[in-house]
Amino acid sequence: MNTIGIMTSGGDSPGMNAAIRAVVKQAKANGIKVIGINKGYKGLIEMDCQELTSASVEDLYRKGGTILKTARYKNFKDPEVVAQGVENCKKLGIEGMVVIGGDGSFRGARDLTHAGIPCVGIPGTIDNDIVCTEDTIGFDSSMNIITDCISKLRDTSETLDRCSVIEVMGAGAGWMALEGGIASGADIMLVPEVEFDFQKDVIDLIKAKKESGQNYFVIVIAECVFFPESNSKHKKNKNFQYVNENGIETVEKFTKKFQEMSGIESRATVLGHIQRGGAPTFHDCILATNMGVHAVELLKNNKSARVVVVKDGKITDFDIDEGLAMKKPFDKDRLEMATKLNF
Ligand code: ATP
Repeated sequence: MNTIGIMTSGGDSPGMNAAIRAVVKQAKANGIKVIGINKGYKGLIEMDCQELTSASVEDLYRKGGTILKTARYKNFKDPEVVAQGVENCKKLGIEGMVVIGGDGSFRGARDLTHAGIPCVGIPGTIDNDIVCTEDTIGFDSSMNIITDCISKLRDTSETLDRCSVIEVMGAGAGWMALEGGIASGADIMLVPEVEFDFQKDVIDLIKAKKESGQNYFVIVIAECVFFPESNSKHKKNKNFQYVNENGIETVEKFTKKFQEMSGIESRATVLGHIQRGGAPTFHDCILATNMGVHAVELLKNNKSARVVVVKDGKITDFDIDEGLAMKKPFDKDRLEMATKLNF
């Protein structure tokens, strides 16, 4: 293999640049040229690309975002568009492709592989919703941001005897809310996977805590409890119907109603895109570097349709089709444990 392509696709995550750097450096060490495709599959179709040299990626190890930019490009679901992608790869001399992104991006990589361009996926997403891997590039960085933000909100809530209601990201899944809530000692975590009752699971629980002497509170809610329409993954979210029926369909309305019913002064905070930005943590820099090296080794050894994964704490790889077909059950016991622990 003489030339490979690399792209970042879907939602950006801290550490994507470190992965790009590792791929380029490892490729260079093996005499392989790397062409960076800008803006994911959109850039492939538009032939928007740049050659990446060792010097051009030198400083990327702690830079947030992705120098290749990213895009959502639904047209890539069309087989004719995929065929155009194959043609463009051939024009550019690209014999294999590294795709850094989430499960949507891996579906594109699978289609591109089946159409003739061997692809390898690297999980780069803050959501940690890729079932075949224990870890994804950006999850740790994002969780550190969330924990830091919640800790700051906790300080001001404590000072003013308030309740802080915090919306966090997580695409269609509640992992970020669960882990962020556990790490920051939240009183309640509301996720799409576990149905809740506003009176019993929120008002009554917080009132009981107040009666036991607690005077400030933290409630963490996964964004998709409120926004199922933005992603097809959210359609099975029963809480969406519930919050709509009960007039609490945004974090602001939820907080207002909570304040009225509990008598506790409350404030809503949407953490938003701050959860995606900034330099990757040490953990994500190492993960991204190890995954980037492994991806190049796979392509060099003519292995494709693989996703680089962490299994039992070690870097290895997994069949892309099998990985995409896997379902990850939400850890309800862990949520229950955390809710009890923080009482
Ligand atoms: P994140 O989890 O961070 O949102 P993602 O990779 O899952 O990342 P998506 O928006 O789902 O993000 O997908 C990224 C891109 O992958 C899409 O814009 C599209 O170009 C391509 N893609 C998604 N689904 C498919 C599919 N079924 N077939 C082919 N390509 C796809």
